[in-house]
Amino acid sequence: MDCNTAEDMVPRFISHSLSYKELEEFLHHIDTCESCRDELETMYIVDRVIRHLDKEEKDTRSDFQSLLMEDIERSREKLRRMRFLRTAGRLAVYLIVALVTGVIFYFLILQ
Ligand SMILES: [Zn+2]
Repeated sequence: MDCNTAEDMVPRFISHSLSYKELEEFLHHIDTCESCRDELETMYIVDRVIRHLDKEEKDTRSDFQSLLMEDIERSREKLRRMRFLRTAGRLAVYLIVALVTGVIFYFLILQ
């Protein structure tokens, strides 16, 4: 992912509307690119301050940087869960295929 794409995704990251695939690529980019991480931090703080002023935000903490860190950590946790579910799903499919193949072989050999 290039910086332009990542910067375009910042508002959608903040509003939690990135798809899993986008989120994965975005977090990877943020991990490796300091300038986009700074951009995210700035936008995040601006967003929080505006919400804060609107009193829309229940969380009255003003430590925005740690709020961002929590948000990133939650996103990572979401991705980990998604990856786990995908792996578990794939394993279940393999298991079913193996079982069906086993049953077919079993009956073929019996006849
Ligand atoms: Zn970048």
